[in-house]
Amino acid sequence: MKPAVFFDRDGTLIKAVHYLNDPDQVTLMNGVGQVLTELEQAGYLRIIVTNQAAIGKGLLTVDGLHRVQQRLDDLLAIEDATIDGWYFCPEVRVAADDETIDFPDRKPGPGMLLQAAGDFDISLADSWMVGDRLSDALAGKNAGCRGSIVITPRPFDKELLSHPSVDFVVASLDHINEIILRSGRPI
Ligand SMILES: [Mg+2]
Repeated sequence: MKPAVFFDRDGTLIKAVHYLNDPDQVTLMNGVGQVLTELEQAGYLRIIVTNQAAIGKGLLTVDGLHRVQQRLDDLLAIEDATIDGWYFCPEVRVAADDETIDFPDRKPGPGMLLQAAGDFDISLADSWMVGDRLSDALAGKNAGCRGSIVITPRPFDKELLSHPSVDFVVASLDHINEIILRSGRPI
């Protein structure tokens, strides 16, 4: 079994755009390529798990989402980086908060991570979840991941800092490998 780092997409690997539906709206966060490559070299699978309510709302088609992903893959290739897989949930949120599981696959539900774990033979207990919202951290915890990291601008949100499902809060993506790679892992 392999460890993985699960990544939220919008606001984590690429700049957040409300209901992004055009490949031209894809902009990588600084340092993405290096972060992904370092994780690959350390033996981690890199998997995107993204809530895409834009599909459920009829603002984006599944084909359109694939075109957005192709643009993301192309931009990563320029940085000599890749991901191993990606999963999306098209459901529209029902709950007003980030903690209630509306659908098993919609974060904070663990469904996409569990699916990936089956597909890639991932050891969830050795894996991490990285995102920009509490719902991302909770999806990781609900799936049984080893740790969760939330990327959020300073000043850090006190609620995030004290939430039991958030293990680390950092200001930008390029800080996550200091945590993940330093944690070591069973070989
Ligand atoms: Mg996000």
